Amino acid sequence: MAHIPHVIGGEKVEAAERTQPIFNPATGEQQHELGIASVETVERAVAAAQAALPMWRKTSLTKRADVFFNLRQLLKQRTPELAAIVTSEHGKVLSDAAGEIARGLENVEFASGLLHLLKGERDEQVSTGVDVHSVKQPVGVVAAITPFNFPVMVPLWMIASAIACGNTVVLKPSERDPSASVFIADLFREAGLPDGVLNVVHGDKVAVDTLLDSRDVKAISFVGSTPIAKYIYERAAANGKRVQALGGAKNHMLVMPDADLDMTADAAVSAAYGSAGERCMAVSVVVAVGGVGDELVAKIAERMAELKIGDGTDPASEMGPLITQEAKERVESYVAGAAAEGATVVVDGREAEFAGGGFFTGVSLIDHVKTDSKVYRDEIFGPVLAVVRVDSYDEGLQLINDHQFGNGTAIFTRDGGVARQFEFEVEAGMVGINVPIPVPVGSFSFGGWKDSLFGDSHIYGPESIHFYTRSKVVTTRWPNAEPSKVDLGFPSNS
Ligand code: NAD
Repeated sequence: MAHIPHVIGGEKVEAAERTQPIFNPATGEQQHELGIASVETVERAVAAAQAALPMWRKTSLTKRADVFFNLRQLLKQRTPELAAIVTSEHGKVLSDAAGEIARGLENVEFASGLLHLLKGERDEQVSTGVDVHSVKQPVGVVAAITPFNFPVMVPLWMIASAIACGNTVVLKPSERDPSASVFIADLFREAGLPDGVLNVVHGDKVAVDTLLDSRDVKAISFVGSTPIAKYIYERAAANGKRVQALGGAKNHMLVMPDADLDMTADAAVSAAYGSAGERCMAVSVVVAVGGVGDELVAKIAERMAELKIGDGTDPASEMGPLITQEAKERVESYVAGAAAEGATVVVDGREAEFAGGGFFTGVSLIDHVKTDSKVYRDEIFGPVLAVVRVDSYDEGLQLINDHQFGNGTAIFTRDGGVARQFEFEVEAGMVGINVPIPVPVGSFSFGGWKDSLFGDSHIYGPESIHFYTRSKVVTTRWPNAEPSKVDLGFPSNS
């Protein structure tokens, strides 16, 4: 059984006082063993990152950009291999795994434009003979802590920009599907990244807390569930670190009476059940406005019956298993409790039968969901779609704005005026107009509102350059520009 190593200072390290099994979710069998990092192992990784920092800071922007150009090529060439790793540990189908790699590549492409992104500003003659310019300098060692559901894309959201800005990184990937991070570190090395700039440690709360408390770690990027995001934000901020902590979601799709219902049903099924609903941008609630509910629910159920659920390595499969047995039991418990909460279970995923082992569950559709129920309030993070019926646009909007989460949302309509009003009024960080999963392209930044994000800065794209740099402003006067004299007054511009 393969042992998955940490990557510290360019070396594969097999330090493990505790171990944890890594399963193949499609079979339920253990396939690897993961060493869980101790405090000492994490401190070693931070020390390696700290040691590499002066060298990487000094490395020219052109040389840094070269790494990203090379990495882009390597990631494209090695996509099938990396996708197979993702599928074997996460369970998502191969095409979906390749899709997340393609979205992660956008961050590598963005980072390769670092010469432009790191430009400062300059003002000449702010006072007589005096000029001012600003520069963007790295913050130092960055810790990147990531969830299980996108083991390639989310690490790339963070490490591409962090490294481009001249920082060094300790990546702590999810302990449920850790191998992709080691593969990415190997590709970075092959692309020319010097040892110690990107380190990977596997672990749990012990590793995370060590990073949060380390004096040498200057910034924390976190993506995961809301309770942990809040904890990370509070502890890192109390320790004086820069922190962005992205949390959970409950993404609503508002369906207006004039929507194209076939297009809407296709979008709802794709966005609710893709990757078994284990996406922070999955649609988990359809809000049916003014009488479209019956027809829409029928169209969704019709499409659900056609879905092929199976091992992600089978090209015929459209949806794979859940990540763990516990996740399966948790998701199914919501379906089991839905009727008692006053909802109608239209399709019960627990009834689907699967040969062999694995953490499979079927797709579920729950109609007439009450807004005070657990099915509505909680992030289920599985293939369960709730339908809420409302009488008007205003009622639907209010419901979305009242929800704890504000990650993504979408409106389906043919009316541009209503779509514009929705865009203006809705309280969520990312909005789709007839687009069910509005994950911004890499040249924009990603982030939710309310309990979907703690901190000021969204992730990747332009906001990441701001997050991963400190600005310095330099005021300059040269002796030959203007004659000088002693002046004890406070500097004022003349
Ligand atoms: P999680 O919160 O359980 O784990 C995320 C990371 O936190 C992991 O690296 C884990 O090791 C660490 N962690 C877990 N418990 C901890 C603790 N008590 N103390 C310190 N660290 C701890 O999340 P997950 O189950 O891996 O991922 C799914 C969640 O992530 C969902 O809630 C999903 O919505 C969210 N997510 C959000 C986004 C976004 O962009 N907002 C993107 C992807 C996933």
